[in-house]
Amino acid sequence: MIQLSELVRYCNELLGVSGFHDYAPNGLQVEGRGRVTRIVTGVTASMALLEQAIALGADAVLVHHGYFWKGEPLPVTGLKARRLGMLLRHGVSLIAYHLPLDTHEVFGNNAQLGKRLAFEIDGYAEAGGVPRLLAFGYLDVASSPSELAERLARLLGRAPLHVGAGPPIIRKVAWCSGAAQRFLGDAVTLGADAYISGEVSEPTTHEAREYGIHYFAAGHHATERYGVQALGEHLATKLRLEHRFVDDPNPV
Ligand SMILES: [Zn+2]
Repeated sequence: MIQLSELVRYCNELLGVSGFHDYAPNGLQVEGRGRVTRIVTGVTASMALLEQAIALGADAVLVHHGYFWKGEPLPVTGLKARRLGMLLRHGVSLIAYHLPLDTHEVFGNNAQLGKRLAFEIDGYAEAGGVPRLLAFGYLDVASSPSELAERLARLLGRAPLHVGAGPPIIRKVAWCSGAAQRFLGDAVTLGADAYISGEVSEPTTHEAREYGIHYFAAGHHATERYGVQALGEHLATKLRLEHRFVDDPNPV
């Protein structure tokens, strides 16, 4: 058991949240009961995730995609009211970390994705004005595009979409989880043979062809499952909390 305030302070310091200009507030977004014994982690604070967390007796839900995104309508109505009402009625807190949980060099989505794909991580580059957002490194075994696609499919449980055209053998890769297709040009600047991210847009295909790079869209949800899990496991060990990761599947 830990006080909610202590848990949030620990996570905020661990992830260095004060150094980020983000699209949503990082840290405690909805305050529930003061004592936390059990946490549920997940990618997105959807209603399905909240329902499962409450059924599991969670005191706090910790996610990568929380609420209150820049530019969204402010009134607490409709879907937003139902989600917030669910948390508040059950005294369950919502804690969310966006960019800090992409870029952290141990618990970040990119670090965890690279580790689980057995990439040799060489470093992290600035992208879109965010320091350390774009990971780059080398494949442990140089691979053809179809071999890399198979490796992604094995880990993520879904076949990636491969567009563009690069060298027949891939050695250097760059990757960024989520909706990071706009960093394709940064991957080219880094000299990558292939770039992997979550989502793809119509122009991405043409850009990848013209740059001469392989692009793999491996799923926004699929590429962002691992950071919050690693953080949850760390909190369970370090702070002796009960932790369950709940996957609310999403094909996008
Ligand atoms: Zn995301």
